[in-house]
Amino acid sequence: MDDKLMLMIPGPTPVPEQVLLAMTKHPIGHRSGDFSKIMAEVTENLKWLHQTQNDVLILAASGTGAMEAGIINFLSPGDRVLALHNGKFGERWVEVAKAYGLNVDTVSAPWGEALDPEQVRQKLEADTQKEIKAVILTHSETSTGVINDLETINRHVKAHGALIMVDAVTSLGAANVPIDAWGLDVVASGSQKGYMIPPGLAFVSVSAKAWEAYKTATLPKFYLDLGKYRKDAAKNSTPFTPPVNLFFGLQAALRMLKAEGLENIFARHQRLMNATRAAVQALNLPLFAAEGISSPAITAVAPTQVEAEQVRSVMRKRFDIALAGGQDHLKGKIFRIGHLGFVGDRDLLSAIAALEATLQELGYENFTPGAGVTAAAKAIAKS
Ligand SMILES: *Cc1c(COP(=O)(O)O)cnc(C)c1O
Repeated sequence: MDDKLMLMIPGPTPVPEQVLLAMTKHPIGHRSGDFSKIMAEVTENLKWLHQTQNDVLILAASGTGAMEAGIINFLSPGDRVLALHNGKFGERWVEVAKAYGLNVDTVSAPWGEALDPEQVRQKLEADTQKEIKAVILTHSETSTGVINDLETINRHVKAHGALIMVDAVTSLGAANVPIDAWGLDVVASGSQKGYMIPPGLAFVSVSAKAWEAYKTATLPKFYLDLGKYRKDAAKNSTPFTPPVNLFFGLQAALRMLKAEGLENIFARHQRLMNATRAAVQALNLPLFAAEGISSPAITAVAPTQVEAEQVRSVMRKRFDIALAGGQDHLKGKIFRIGHLGFVGDRDLLSAIAALEATLQELGYENFTPGAGVTAAAKAIAKS
């Protein structure tokens, strides 16, 4: 049906009507007083969302741009870094670091499992010469629906003294990422995930310790030189022409998030995750991520008696619901249900009902009709 598409992919995520309407205006000059006012408000609200007094800088980029900015602003060619990876996005950090000639050491876990903080601790303790300048990791690994134990890993990094750089693209605005309480140095995120606005903006928060490293970092940079963004942000401005209409959207979305409140936002994502997992189990479909390491942003399902790609195809064609597929070697092996950003209980119940109908259409009968919806409703009511 035309105009009914429901995005249940981990980005781009659905955008509220208020945010869409806020963006349907003529652009304004980015050197105007009106733009400065918006810049001041969104910067303050971003700090609230990030739970930090650090700088939170806004880039015209996708999430990868914010990640790349982290690498090039605080490090120098040949620097040793420890990249932790357990999925597609963690591997991307390794690629970016290598592209800039860094000396990359790694700790990894298989896709679908969480990073082992103990291995990270051992690696860092072995570095008695303190050669490792930064530890880089993905908090919520979108490719598998696994969330890593950032709090514990961060404690080990703090004991060592290296900078910690976090891809929080699908955890910020979905899970608790208390930047100041934990002392996270560089935290990257993107507008099309938890922020409820379209793709095009990326955010990076920078600690005082990272700014110290900035002073001596020699990797080349120009458009993504964060010093420029910091200097201009202090004057409620931006170094280059920002996508001003996305800023209108950002302003509206942050007001909505603030009205909901951090605790409620985290609780909603937790509830959606619990409901999704309960429903998938009730449908006798295997969950890809184990209990206790699952991301509140996305749930990956690894069906064996029905084709993952067929599930996606029927969901899309018959019910206008977009689910994500698997990436790389997981292509065709899993489908992923995004429940991140502007997603509510009703959306989830609809998606589970549609999933049941899809499974029936595909001849998968290993469940009691209604079991998924019942389990999801129960999980929602309980919390
Ligand atoms: C979406 C995403 C990114 C950023 O991808 P872009 O396409 O550059 O926005 C990075 N990390 C994770 C974990 C993501 O989910």
